[in-house]
Amino acid sequence: MSIDILQSSIAYVKGVGPARAKLLEQEMGIFKCQDLLHFFPNRYIDRTRYFKINELQQNESEVQIVGMVTSLQSVKQKRGSRLVATFKDATGQMELVWFQGAKWIKENIKLNTPYVIFGKTKFYKGYTMAHPEMELLDAHKKSLSTVMQPVYPSTELLQKRGVSHKTVSKMVQNLFLTQGISFAETLSEEIKNQLKFIDKADALLNIHFPKSQDLLTKASYRLKFEELFFIQLQLIRKNIINKQKIKGYPFKKVGPIFTDFYNNCLPFELTGAQKRVIKEIRKDVGSSAQMNRLLQGDVGSGKTIVGLMAMLFAIDNDFQATLMAPTAILAKQHFDGISELVKDLPIKVSLLMGSTKTKARREIHADLEAGEIHILIGTHALLEDKVKYKNLGLAIIDEQHRFGVAQRAKLWKKNELPPHILVMTATPIPRTLAMSLYGDLDVSVIDELPPGRKAIKTLHRYEGQRLKVFYFIREEIAKGRQVYIVYPLIQESEAMDYKDLMDGYESIARDFPDNQISIVHGQMKPADKDIEMERFVKGETQIMVATTVIEVGVNVPNASLMIIESAERFGLSQLHQLRGRVGRGAEQSYCVLMSGFKLSNDSKTRLETMVQTNDGFEIAEVDLKLRGPGNIMGTQQSGVLNLKIADIVKDNQLLKIARDFAMKVLKEDPNLELPKNAPINMAYRQLVQHKNIWNYIS
Ligand code: ADP
Ligand code: MG
Repeated sequence: MSIDILQSSIAYVKGVGPARAKLLEQEMGIFKCQDLLHFFPNRYIDRTRYFKINELQQNESEVQIVGMVTSLQSVKQKRGSRLVATFKDATGQMELVWFQGAKWIKENIKLNTPYVIFGKTKFYKGYTMAHPEMELLDAHKKSLSTVMQPVYPSTELLQKRGVSHKTVSKMVQNLFLTQGISFAETLSEEIKNQLKFIDKADALLNIHFPKSQDLLTKASYRLKFEELFFIQLQLIRKNIINKQKIKGYPFKKVGPIFTDFYNNCLPFELTGAQKRVIKEIRKDVGSSAQMNRLLQGDVGSGKTIVGLMAMLFAIDNDFQATLMAPTAILAKQHFDGISELVKDLPIKVSLLMGSTKTKARREIHADLEAGEIHILIGTHALLEDKVKYKNLGLAIIDEQHRFGVAQRAKLWKKNELPPHILVMTATPIPRTLAMSLYGDLDVSVIDELPPGRKAIKTLHRYEGQRLKVFYFIREEIAKGRQVYIVYPLIQESEAMDYKDLMDGYESIARDFPDNQISIVHGQMKPADKDIEMERFVKGETQIMVATTVIEVGVNVPNASLMIIESAERFGLSQLHQLRGRVGRGAEQSYCVLMSGFKLSNDSKTRLETMVQTNDGFEIAEVDLKLRGPGNIMGTQQSGVLNLKIADIVKDNQLLKIARDFAMKVLKEDPNLELPKNAPINMAYRQLVQHKNIWNYIS
């Protein structure tokens, strides 16, 4: 019975009706009573305080006053008229003004009767308040919202159509007063006791109509927990079910190719972290469930070799493997690097890109279907329908954030059973976010850099110190090193940025007449880009002037200096990615952030963070705090942005608690069958059934 009310359209709630229902549906996505109930205020106006008229201050402020209207009169203006009321309390008098709706006011206002008015005061010769909210003192005392007045999110159209937060509040109030309505408990007694939560019904009531600040805090704490808890419950369950249901090809043996590579071809000793991750991967691919693993590792942490070794597992078990990179430069680099590493093994590695000539392309297609190619490396070209494998066992996606969910899904479908998936990223996703985004993926982290790397020294310099910076560039080049100079390129002002880049290039050319300079930017043809890049990689040029196109993956170990121009215009993760282009060899490397003097607080924080730390995870956390989850890569497709009350950044402590509880519950009761978990089960089914929880990536 009660559930029926919550599942019915809001149109039937008193004070809503079909027109407003439609509006709320369009503007706010509120369809059912259940949605209205979970449409939470985003702030509250403190209505605990009543002002006396003689306490008013001359600056504008929102106040609440008890008094009486003693007279009403229309005042002619240039156009139309306004309605003015004299409003008095024991301490003085003021004016109330209406520019619209005078007729209604005149007919309805009771003179010399106590009202509570609320609104913004202005001072002009005396105090006035335009379009005050008014409520009879008697009714006010009885209404639910006497303490903290909820303010609901709104839109221009809602305002225009007269659906104010007050109107919404009234609707919610009517919903609460609807006959026969009741609010089922959604958490177990056990959790409620352990976390000292108030009941669900109390929480709902107090989030809309707080009886006190204390109850509001308790209500919001419980509702936030609950929101995060059910998302985690869903993610963790999905992970468990995936493991049971989505079968993969088990790579049973560690064969001769892997062993040979390990014993004879490894150019260096693996780091502890690399070994650990390889073990994690081996365990995944060895089981009969499909692997779905995210590999996070800071720039230069050595993800490629880990990926390669996973591919060797596949080959040893008679499967093919593929590695997809976001850019042609990067795909080519992977191809060259991997070909070199496996040159003594009986393995065929091929490269497929958009630019691959038709004849070569046909050959690759044929060889791939015949099973003659063991490892296929490439760009988006790998996703084309013509690319058919004989037996794809493992797909690796490098720098995952550049691919959309749909593209990943395409890779999945290349086989009868889905291949194992390894997603590698150097954009560290803050742990908190990873937890809510990828709760259903397994995550491996390479948290150790190869030995002998010296930490990159980062400096922040102003325009006035440019001469010194140029001197430094000369010194590094004299030592035989190479230098990157990067300019911002932001879409909105592309033309201007392009000019900056070209001006920069010309001034560099003037200042470094004895050096060879490469230039790479987004408006160049890919082939030209590759040629310029190649010259730098080979060491034919000493300076690379570029835009952020070099951000991802490029590996030139001899480059030891990165100058970032107008560094204040870059985001943190981008700065970190760019900096990762140096520090790849054994030499001490440097990153110089050039900026103007005028810096916003956020820019200052970004630059300071860069100077202070090289730790990508730390940087990612700061980035998340500065920008919020909406701008962090990958979040767009996930549910974290649709949280109704919790905040992924501010409530990250609570997120951990919610996750722990969700795990504990599922560990003890995977199908939520125990009587004590009945409330959780009910709520969970409803959420899943009504798809209130988003589908996360897979
Ligand atoms: P990323 O994680 O950024 O993709 P790469 O896989 O490109 O890093 O590795 C960066 C560099 O470090 C490469 O030149 C690679 O050969 C080297 N490298 C990787 N692992 C080790 C290791 N264990 N010891 C020494 N050098 C390593
Ligand atoms: Mg890489």
